[in-house]
Amino acid sequence: KSGFISIIGRPNVGKSTFLNRVIGQKIAIMSDKPQTTRNKIQGVLTLENTQMIFIDTPGIHKPKHKLGDFMMKVAQNTLKEVDLILFMVNAEEGFGRGEEFILEKFQTVNTPIFLVINKIDQIHPDNLLPIIESYKEKYPFKEVVPISALEGNNVDRLLEQIKTYL
Ligand code: GDP
Ligand code: MG
Repeated sequence: KSGFISIIGRPNVGKSTFLNRVIGQKIAIMSDKPQTTRNKIQGVLTLENTQMIFIDTPGIHKPKHKLGDFMMKVAQNTLKEVDLILFMVNAEEGFGRGEEFILEKFQTVNTPIFLVINKIDQIHPDNLLPIIESYKEKYPFKEVVPISALEGNNVDRLLEQIKTYL
């Protein structure tokens, strides 16, 4: 099994921390899958019978300048081509304009989307369920996975779930 995965989320939600945790030293392994110029491969995780190719999808944030419109189109096309999208949010912060904006972009995309709620080490466990519920009513995510990219909680479970969508 092999597939492309795009991690989408506002700055500082923990995308790089997650990639570093799952790929770490294995980051140098490159895939033989065709690579388009607009998609930068950030890392490839090779497990026994699965290869997960994480790609960078720039431009999905609210545009700060005119070029942003073009970037947004490119980003949306990329989202249509990947096998899975991980939408990462920060458990400490509520659903905001940034998330709303990104979810709007998902409307035109048929790619399966997971909601990854990161930084659960920073919140009280009782607060997790309300967060999950508030996101679930915004979009029909295929899976909702709370993790701590920093401490590693639930990251293995997320990888298992990713596997089933490749
Ligand atoms: P990115 O902009 O989405 O790539 O976010 P980064 O991976 O650079 O992380 C931004 C900040 O959040 C860094 O200071 C990380 O150490 C911190 N961070 C990332 N994941 C976690 C987490 O699971 N728990 C906590 N407490 N901090 C985290
Ligand atoms: Mg980053």
